[in-house]
Amino acid sequence: MPELPEMEIVARRLAAALPGQVVESALAPGINALKTFDPPLHALEGRAFTGVRRRGKLLILELGELDVLVHLMTAGRMQLNPKRGSLRDKAARLMIRLPDDHELRVREFGSKQAMWLKVLRAGEVDADPALQGLGPEAWPDPPPLGELLDAPRPLHSLLRDQQVIAGIGRTWVDEILHVARLSPFKRGDDLDDDDAARLRDAMVSEMERVLAVYEEKVALPLPEKFPKPTRVHAHQGEPCWRCGTVLEAVFYEDYVMTYCPQDQTEGRVLKDRRLSRLLK
Ligand SMILES: [Zn+2]
Repeated sequence: MPELPEMEIVARRLAAALPGQVVESALAPGINALKTFDPPLHALEGRAFTGVRRRGKLLILELGELDVLVHLMTAGRMQLNPKRGSLRDKAARLMIRLPDDHELRVREFGSKQAMWLKVLRAGEVDADPALQGLGPEAWPDPPPLGELLDAPRPLHSLLRDQQVIAGIGRTWVDEILHVARLSPFKRGDDLDDDDAARLRDAMVSEMERVLAVYEEKVALPLPEKFPKPTRVHAHQGEPCWRCGTVLEAVFYEDYVMTYCPQDQTEGRVLKDRRLSRLLK
């Protein structure tokens, strides 16, 4: 998190609110947050927002001749606050002051400073390495997946690879594979035509389902914690919503992969790497 649906709803809400608003001042207080120096951040001052768009998990704030490219990584959150926050906020990574005391602020939670932003000349943004390497969008109209995923790697890893397909991460990959009834460890080059078509449908329908929830529940100033309409991811130990089998999980160092043995792995319970490491 945030992945495609979270960034899409952020882009929609900001696109409805920001255009026309003029930047009074801009600061990027994080150590690593601002990755560019020319044009400088203060070049945003006096410019009006002209649009907001999303590409993969990235957000592009458009201000006429300049664009601000933002990657929130896992712990960044962007909010459009009706009142300015504190200048001494240690979690603040970007503060854009707007008229009437409003403020666009990115805050980052946890100890890592991973989120980043770039100020780019309009027209340069699509050529930026962060965007150029991205695969096609996972939603709304991804290409057929048979060829795209034709590699000797597990689906769970292929679908999260932004250079293969853009927008999916650790949360929604579990939901998509479950809807498609595919094992997270099935290899991309083992997909038959039916599998590939089912997976594509599952990807689109899951993104639509989550976006419908966000459309209803996510409003400005935008939440620090998004509602989580997950049914499988991190629900290990609970019954599968489709067949009632207890959901199982494989634990990795910093994330969990959850699946239904009945629906996805022909009844097999996959080796839990956390347990096997502890037992060594
Ligand atoms: Zn099931």
